[in-house]
Amino acid sequence: MTVQQTLSHLVGINSVSSRSNAEIIEYLEQRCVRSGFAVKRFSYTDEIGIEKINLVALAGTEFSERAEAELALVGHTDTVPYDVNWSEATKLTERDGKLFARGACDTKGFIASALTAVELIDVNRLQRPLALIFTADEEIGLRGAKYLAQINALRVRYSIVGEPTSLQPIRAGKGYALAEVVVRGREAHSAYPALGASAIVRAARLISRLEAIGEELKSDRHDGFDPPFTTLNVGLIKGGTAKNVLAGECSFALEWRPIPTQKPTLVLDLLDAAIAEEMKSDSDFTCEVSSDRNDSGFETREDSTLVTLLESTTGKKAGSVAFGTEGAQMTRLGSEAVVLGPGDIRQAHRTGEFVPVEELERCVEILSEAINSFCF
Ligand SMILES: [Zn+2]
Repeated sequence: MTVQQTLSHLVGINSVSSRSNAEIIEYLEQRCVRSGFAVKRFSYTDEIGIEKINLVALAGTEFSERAEAELALVGHTDTVPYDVNWSEATKLTERDGKLFARGACDTKGFIASALTAVELIDVNRLQRPLALIFTADEEIGLRGAKYLAQINALRVRYSIVGEPTSLQPIRAGKGYALAEVVVRGREAHSAYPALGASAIVRAARLISRLEAIGEELKSDRHDGFDPPFTTLNVGLIKGGTAKNVLAGECSFALEWRPIPTQKPTLVLDLLDAAIAEEMKSDSDFTCEVSSDRNDSGFETREDSTLVTLLESTTGKKAGSVAFGTEGAQMTRLGSEAVVLGPGDIRQAHRTGEFVPVEELERCVEILSEAINSFCF
């Protein structure tokens, strides 16, 4: 089967994150078994009761407590939603050397390349174990990969994580963290402000402190990134009930993208310190912070064998990305990780997503070369 035919099958299966990914996993499982891999499912139930499945396929070793792969090719099976009016979303369509469909570049193009690459080898002749890892729920918080890391599903020495990078090796990525901050006040008639305390004014003071924290963070530099420091953003704010009432509550969402050399909870610690400062000058100040996302970034050494191999195969210098990827979870599984895949991230997550045919085919060659070099 050609890589294009495989991609056509993959995009034909709707695997939007909100649905179960059982159908695409079943397809991948069959393909892996046919190629001589042993397969194992690592399933969990999401918060609305839907079964989500991570699939690990191994060749050259057996599943055990200490299963270890020399090289893993990692792709997420879920996609972001698509507009129902986009007729090509689940029907791969070729135009001008481009293949259009939801997931064509993020990340089914990579998965199709990986399946094609492993079908070109004789798995019985592997010198070192090879794994294929297909995850769930990447688009909604890397949940599948986090689950695999949490249960320590297997150990991996080197991994190539599929994401659309136009085939540039990416050896570092920023993390991603979120906090919800609820500032409380005391409601009162706005004609008599001394009778209450405005939650909006309190939140504004706290946000000014966050602005200063953002400035402070610029001095902890990591020159591998653009911008070369942790950035933060207050992207949502909500507060008050009426224009003539002192607001009783004001909440805002704080997001930050930590550089991998910084602990992802640093901003949370700085926020706590800022709240403590506010309480010193305003003894009545009350505020609650909840944070359920603290994803660290990842960084693989410049001189890693995987980085140098992929640099020489692609002819492109390894770079970094400012968004979160499963590279961090692969690092937790013991791996030196590089993110690489066909297609451009700017084409992902929108109607008209596509992968260039040439890059898709080139990706098969790159992955074949990596398999030959690490596993034979
Ligand atoms: Zn993706």
